[in-house]
Amino acid sequence: MRVIETIAELREWRRAVGQADVGFVPTMGALHDGHRSLMKLARDRADQLAVSIFVNPLQFGPNEDLAKYPRTLEADLDACRAEGVDLVFAPSVEEMYGPVRLITVGAGRMGTILEGASRPGHFDGVLTVVAKLFNLVKPDFAVFGQKDAQQLACIRRMVADLNFDLDIVAAPIIRDPDGLAMSSRNRYLSPDERTLALTLARALAAGAAQQTPAEILKAAHTVLEQAGSKIEVDYLKLVKASTFDDVRDQLDTDALLLVAARVGSTRLIDNHRLSAR
Ligand code: AMP
Repeated sequence: MRVIETIAELREWRRAVGQADVGFVPTMGALHDGHRSLMKLARDRADQLAVSIFVNPLQFGPNEDLAKYPRTLEADLDACRAEGVDLVFAPSVEEMYGPVRLITVGAGRMGTILEGASRPGHFDGVLTVVAKLFNLVKPDFAVFGQKDAQQLACIRRMVADLNFDLDIVAAPIIRDPDGLAMSSRNRYLSPDERTLALTLARALAAGAAQQTPAEILKAAHTVLEQAGSKIEVDYLKLVKASTFDDVRDQLDTDALLLVAARVGSTRLIDNHRLSAR
């Protein structure tokens, strides 16, 4: 496995692999089994599998956890080796962005709702780094987790609207045995907070067992309310999977039940895909 830190070396690698089918998994490191499931999926299909590890400052707000975001490069490289990754691109911030940055990618309306409302500029930051990485790695396909459903939708939109020439592959959410969606941020949770965090997945499951949009939201709300003030819910929403528009009276299209909440000082997100009924 090659580990590359510079754009020049990455371009050289890309030229050398030429016509090979290149799969790509972008990450911010602190790799867990969720990330590894993306690599497994990509490994099955790719001749060459590239992973990026880059904590992207552009997608963090001024009061977010950029400085304390976990950085575990050695363990991450071991995980990549174990998954048969061919190339890891782990650039510095200076290498990625240089001294001047004038042009960014804007996520539009999708970047201003839900996660984008709570985290202004977040999706512009995500799309900017992903666009740069796509231009550098030139993958035939890239794999993203359904865990970050709105991110996945924004990336699909960017690829369609800006004519990027690659396939976007969605990977299912990987959970701990008790149901908690795996996240690099779970390591911030104290044991008590971790137990509380399970409320998110339980609320989604309770909602998913219902029929109508009103019942779905009510059942999920009820579970969240039982946790009282220990969980600060940011949003609980039922949206159309393709557009992220609110689902109103009837679940006549595939939908996502989305939740974001703060447990202690840790902000967590989770979602559940619901089929039309
Ligand atoms: P991150 O390192 O948090 O930027 O995540 C990198 C990729 O891994 C994104 O496509 C995420 O959606 C995906 N991912 C993170 N956690 C999970 C999970 N629990 N299950 C599936 N994919 C995940």
